[in-house]
Amino acid sequence: MKWAPITKTTAAANLDGYERTCAEFSWQDAGTLLSGLPDGLGLNVAYEAVDRHATGPMAGKTALRWLDRDDGVHDLTYAELAERTNRFANLLAGLGVRRGERVFTLLGRVPDLYVATLGALKAGCVLSPLFSAFGPEPVRQRLQLGEGAVLVTSPALYRRKIRRLRAELPSLRHVLLTGRDAEPDTTALEPAMAAQSATYEIGATAPEDPALLHFTSGTTGTPKGALHVHAAVLAHHVTARYALDLRDDDIFWCTADPGWVTGMSYGVIAPLTLGATIISDEGEFDARRWYHVLASQHVTNWYTAPTALRMLMREGGALAGGFDLSALRFIASVGEPLNPEVVVWGQEALNLPVHDNWWQTETGAIMIANFASEEIRPGSMGRPLPGIDAGLLERGDDGRAEVIGGHVREITEPGVDGELALRPGWPSMFRSYWGDPARYGKAFADGWYLTGDVARRDADGYYWFVGRADDVIKSAGHLVGPFEVESALLAHPAVAEAGVIGTPDPVAGELVKAYVSLKPGHEPTEDLRLELLAFGRKALGAVAPKAIVFEQRLPHTRSGKVMRRLIKARELGLPEGDVSTLEGV
Ligand code: ATP
Ligand code: MG
Repeated sequence: MKWAPITKTTAAANLDGYERTCAEFSWQDAGTLLSGLPDGLGLNVAYEAVDRHATGPMAGKTALRWLDRDDGVHDLTYAELAERTNRFANLLAGLGVRRGERVFTLLGRVPDLYVATLGALKAGCVLSPLFSAFGPEPVRQRLQLGEGAVLVTSPALYRRKIRRLRAELPSLRHVLLTGRDAEPDTTALEPAMAAQSATYEIGATAPEDPALLHFTSGTTGTPKGALHVHAAVLAHHVTARYALDLRDDDIFWCTADPGWVTGMSYGVIAPLTLGATIISDEGEFDARRWYHVLASQHVTNWYTAPTALRMLMREGGALAGGFDLSALRFIASVGEPLNPEVVVWGQEALNLPVHDNWWQTETGAIMIANFASEEIRPGSMGRPLPGIDAGLLERGDDGRAEVIGGHVREITEPGVDGELALRPGWPSMFRSYWGDPARYGKAFADGWYLTGDVARRDADGYYWFVGRADDVIKSAGHLVGPFEVESALLAHPAVAEAGVIGTPDPVAGELVKAYVSLKPGHEPTEDLRLELLAFGRKALGAVAPKAIVFEQRLPHTRSGKVMRRLIKARELGLPEGDVSTLEGV
């Protein structure tokens, strides 16, 4: 199968009819969209992302446009990116780093992060990106678990977080520091790179060779290290075209940090494989700055997260009106349920709807999406991508799919909650949880990968998120999805964000309790609390929250998700568990 011709004038022409595209799709056929290594040496992520564009007409095109904190703009062309990543791969080889060894990055969004990532992939190493705002403990945990051989970081981050950990990290042989100056027992990257050859031939890389080790967000517990292979690049490429409507003449901004799977799959790899231009912004979230980036960089496709959109919404639509966003064609969101209010707000304030899509660190790429060419259903995650076989499984008492005698039961009728499951077989599927084969084994049953999320499906095959299996609340015989309650509250003009949990109750089993943060100009008064309770009852009936607590700072993961398990632990006075990914610690 090949895609219908994509031209600027045929908006959203990526899917030539959803059903037909799905019926005709095969991963094997799609494989012809990639070039593969020369001389049949296999498939390498970095070759598909960089080298294949670095000679010929694309060489001089901007691959990466980096916006520094001080509003400086710096461009790297495909040819320049190829050269730098070659030097980095040569550097690793010169240091004696072997294929399959783990190279970690602990860097802000700076060009060296992209260079180290793609250079390490060229060298056949496994790249594991860490979010730069992690404290020393989460960094140590991950480096130890993944037995990192190399760490690329900045002098400041090294001094603050790594130096005193060195003794506890026996596998860490090399620390490379960005810039010109080294510390004791480290290598300065700039002179070391300058001393390398600018050419590098990528060695034979089997599609099943390990490529990326991504730690999950830790929303539900201790983060897991999901291992992905080079073949994943095909899924990145294909899903970016389908679910993000991305084409080679686009300017793409993915606001997720490459320390998370979204920021790697779609902030680095996918847009480069398509020959697009990546915008990378070193700065942090700020409503005005973000609109400025969108406008000044003529961003065409923007991939962001619900919390960020909710924050923009909190600022009000008038702010957006002051910027020229006419280049923007497509907005997508991932990471958390996207409240329908936000989709509708996008339509009003930005003149574009927001396309929700769903996936996980484990799936490596988008699995379910509202497509560019298809009707959007606000509040729905959309439909499975071509090549993705999704299903819903009947659940047992623990909220997860019930496995009886090795078998599960698939739900076929619409509107019924079940654990969302996927048939393994797509290329970016994780191949293990690093160091934890037992946990990996438990993620599968009866030929399905079990996602841990609960969803329902409507008669047209659109999936609707209910909650994580752990978060679903059982109250007086009702199963309550926190997302539904949060979205209902968000429809109230005073509410900025909500986190809903179940608290134990002798009669009802669990009571629905909502933690709510307010928009500017609203006070947490008793009157407002009563008004919100009534508002909830009107919208939700029996499953409405019975208690509301105002809390301006709901706990979030660093990847931007509301941490309901932490709200609950605090509420019940229980241990907080692993908080290594909690924002602001
Ligand atoms: P951990 O597995 O460590 O608890 P995590 O599940 O948050 O953390 P990720 O892999 O980053 O780690 O996130 C995937 C999860 O995020 C999904 O399983 C789902 O619960 C949630 N999610 C992602 N996209 C969406 C979406 N569009 N709608 C609803 N939930 C989403
Ligand atoms: Mg998860």
